Amino acid sequence: MSTIEKQAYDRNRYLKKKEDFIERDRKRRLLNPQDGKRRATNWAKNHPRALNIIQSRCQQMLKLEVLGKYSNDTFRCTNCNEDRLDCLTIDHINNDGQEHRKAIGSVNMYRWLRKNNYPNGFQVLCMNCQWVKKAENQRSRRASSKLLRRRLLIEDLINSRYTP
Ligand SMILES: [Zn+2]
Repeated sequence: MSTIEKQAYDRNRYLKKKEDFIERDRKRRLLNPQDGKRRATNWAKNHPRALNIIQSRCQQMLKLEVLGKYSNDTFRCTNCNEDRLDCLTIDHINNDGQEHRKAIGSVNMYRWLRKNNYPNGFQVLCMNCQWVKKAENQRSRRASSKLLRRRLLIEDLINSRYTP
């Protein structure tokens, strides 16, 4: 029997007994619920490259889903309309990303957004726009702290001049 004939034979045999096989697997899972998990773990250990590919595809699908939700399925940067998926990211609108990441711990942001039913306060930005936003924030923060220092200095001067 050639390889092709063998494959056709196996396929026919499977199709004839498909329901039996499904029933057998279902019973096996019911009898030993941990078995599936153990087999999956074993499989993952023995197929690291395949696992890697599956995980990265799942991650891509998840990213697409989340970007779609936050861009009304336009998949474009809110600011400049960039549409190359590789440079699109999710941005914290109120610049509270650091505190937010600290609060939720080391979980995948895309997964967190999906699990929490896509809360408000996020938008799709490209890396360029995100970088520019960050730089502008730093500049304005520096400027306001400089202003604050100047004001405190002036208050000090006024106080020292007018203390009796
Ligand atoms: Zn942009």
